[in-house]
Amino acid sequence: MKSKSNKILVTSPLMPNIDRYKEMLDEIWASRWLSNGGCMTKELERRLCSYLAVENISLFNNGTIALMTAIQSLRLQGEVITTPFSFPATTHVLNWNGITPVFCDVCPHTLTIDPNKIEALITSKTSAILGVHVYGIPCYVEEIQRIADVHGLRVIYDAAHAFGCEIDGKPISDFGDISMFSFHPTKLFHTAEGGALVFGDVNLKERIELLKNFGIKNQEEVILPGINGKMNELSAAMGLSVLPLVNNERERRSEIRALYTANLGGIPGLQVLTVADNVKSSQQYFAIRITAEAIVNRDDLYDDLKENNVFPRKYFSPLISNYPCYSMLPTARAEALPVATLVEKQVLCLPFYGELSNSEVLKICKIVRKSLGVE
Ligand SMILES: *Cc1c(COP(=O)(O)O)cnc(C)c1O
Repeated sequence: MKSKSNKILVTSPLMPNIDRYKEMLDEIWASRWLSNGGCMTKELERRLCSYLAVENISLFNNGTIALMTAIQSLRLQGEVITTPFSFPATTHVLNWNGITPVFCDVCPHTLTIDPNKIEALITSKTSAILGVHVYGIPCYVEEIQRIADVHGLRVIYDAAHAFGCEIDGKPISDFGDISMFSFHPTKLFHTAEGGALVFGDVNLKERIELLKNFGIKNQEEVILPGINGKMNELSAAMGLSVLPLVNNERERRSEIRALYTANLGGIPGLQVLTVADNVKSSQQYFAIRITAEAIVNRDDLYDDLKENNVFPRKYFSPLISNYPCYSMLPTARAEALPVATLVEKQVLCLPFYGELSNSEVLKICKIVRKSLGVE
């Protein structure tokens, strides 16, 4: 196995001190308790409630199963209005729940679901709105809630990119009925694989806990058609070792963001995606858009970077609405999704993680400037 290559990837997971992790493994070995809500999982739930300033959390084996369970817990059916500009899981979980996804276009500045286009898509079958805080840029949460209240809809957020994000000092999970976090290694905070649901209504807790453990109430009774969504103790221990590193990582990423922003200014056709002043960023991704004004397109820039051993990612291209399993839906037509269809060809997430050195960031900026014909 090659231990270190000179490739610069879009992200690199936080790796905790291995001795700290081994100490926790010793505890797990001694306890012989490997899953089903052991000490590590319970402790991680406590720590995350405190870090995220939330009251109700349920840990999962990954974010996708967590989102599946969120939909089951609210008994959603019929149609759910969502965004085509996301990771496949966002729409797949609707499909796996027998729900028809209804694609809504995104806003050009935030790349999140456009609240002005939601109401036209509501029918008698609509049960919820499923938004995504893309790159950690929050959805228009107030507007979405207003629409949901008028039409009696539930609101779920895919907050996979928004760990620790705040709006006006309030945790992002204060908005909507349920928020899902992913703890995959590509995410800021991770448990190797894992995820969580965070929700305001404590009454949801029992149903969510049942659903993630096969619907088992006790040794005599299975009362719901549940699934296996439980986090295991080794992942929870990983989370307990990674969580203390997250604040430093976010600070370092915000320095890197500032360095990128300072060195990518004044390039015709290059826009940096930013969060509003009232938002505390999760620092999940550093995303740019290459617009028609630029002398090359996004794919040319991507190729130039790759030739220099820098591997950015075109999140989220292709659009979910263009996958063969969804493209026949009436709301998947490109004409109905003009902004998403345009930005899909323009977005690029540059390498963004704390271990990236300033000189590597400057090297990347130099390649970008050269590719776009500046200096
Ligand atoms: C990572 C991600 C998911 C899936 O989470 P897993 O934990 O990998 O299942 C879902 N939605 C978005 C937007 C993601 O980035």
